Amino acid sequence: MAKLYFRYGAMNSGKSTALLQAAYNYEERGQRVLLAKPEIDTKDADRISSRLGMTRPVDFLIRPGDDVRALFAAERQRLAQDAAQALVPDGADAEGAAGVACLLLDEAQFLTREQVDDLLRIVVLDRVPVLAYGIRTDFRTDAFPGSRRLLELAHSLEELKTICRCGRKALFNARLVGGRFVFDGDQVAIDELSADRVTYESMCAECYLTESGGRLG
Ligand SMILES: [Zn+2]
Repeated sequence: MAKLYFRYGAMNSGKSTALLQAAYNYEERGQRVLLAKPEIDTKDADRISSRLGMTRPVDFLIRPGDDVRALFAAERQRLAQDAAQALVPDGADAEGAAGVACLLLDEAQFLTREQVDDLLRIVVLDRVPVLAYGIRTDFRTDAFPGSRRLLELAHSLEELKTICRCGRKALFNARLVGGRFVFDGDQVAIDELSADRVTYESMCAECYLTESGGRLG
């Protein structure tokens, strides 16, 4: 049975690396996968890049308001047409060769609630497993919309771990602007701020509360 998987963690917990490894594992077995991400992410806009240096382009980008199931169906059809036009070895099944074994999503926290609902429809109605990778909470410890819905709907939840500067497991993502911690602002840092170099530090709850003076959200 196909399942919806949500693999979540703080920033720098290796989500993109894990995604690219999962894609590789499928392809090593001769299976096709599709990679996608929301367009809102501006660094490497149409690529999935791991901090270890691996990178590959996505098959499609998801814009706010897009029907993800329709986008997925269109990509799947394109693969099937490519396979039908290609020279297929004797005995090979063009339909089977074009089958999509898995849909992998990076930066899934930026999907809308409706788009995560689409993911569950792809899993259940189209019978294709979906692996979504994302950050659970924003810099004020509130769940991102996509992550909240994934926590509600996913068949399988898996935490990808990274450590805080103190050695404990990091839970939160503190925002720094120009090297100073900030606890107010938009959920997604707007472009005008990037001149001030917005960075994030993955932190345990203890260190976060120390920096925020006890404040959450
Ligand atoms: Zn800590």
